[in-house]
Amino acid sequence: MAGVGSGLADLLYPRDCVCCGQPAGESLRWFCEDCALAMPLTAGRPCCALCGRVFEGLVSVGRVCPGCSELKAGWGRGATLLQYSGPGESLVRGLKFHGLRCLLGDVGRILHGRLDVLDMLRGAVLVPVPLHAVRQRERGYNQSLWLAQVFANEAGASCRELLVRTRDTGTQTALGREERLKNMRGAFALRQAVKIHPQQSYVLVDDVITTGATLDACASALLRAGAASPAVLTLAHA
Ligand SMILES: [Zn+2]
Ligand SMILES: [Zn+2]
Repeated sequence: MAGVGSGLADLLYPRDCVCCGQPAGESLRWFCEDCALAMPLTAGRPCCALCGRVFEGLVSVGRVCPGCSELKAGWGRGATLLQYSGPGESLVRGLKFHGLRCLLGDVGRILHGRLDVLDMLRGAVLVPVPLHAVRQRERGYNQSLWLAQVFANEAGASCRELLVRTRDTGTQTALGREERLKNMRGAFALRQAVKIHPQQSYVLVDDVITTGATLDACASALLRAGAASPAVLTLAHA
């Protein structure tokens, strides 16, 4: 019966691939079969233990990518589900810039196959990277909160907005690595009356990781409040 219902809905509201505009397929709900196949998943590929960045074309590599060792990241482990390219970029942009909540179902489908990530999330409190209040009002949503909720649902974990962004750091795209780090320092704080339990595991959630400066600033806020060693999970690595 469910099949008949969704078939009818598809007739009334045809789904087009958010990446290329072809009719969407069945593997993912908002991507055609070609784009679903081309989805740049990181699953099963050798990658950085902290940020999940795929070690592309490198024969012998350490556990951590050069970016993370330079950053001296304050978190203990991490993963990313996708590379920020092709259909992966369309998925991130659809959520971030167009508020396409409907894409979250496909995010859940992608996470479903990641037993390693689900294992990392088990029993954890997922903490979305917050937007500054002004930006949140402008945009009307925080895609990182949406993602944290989906990840928490899939993993049977909980999602809590423990952090606030105390400074509006603006867009970081034009900034270099050092400037991003400087710009983010002290930009996050714990919400009032929130208590951190040292025995509890925390996983920070963001849509995209680039230099890791934002997540590092969030990790610092949790560490300052007594968290043991937070982990990070992002949808894509740029
Ligand atoms: Zn497509
Ligand atoms: Zn890394």
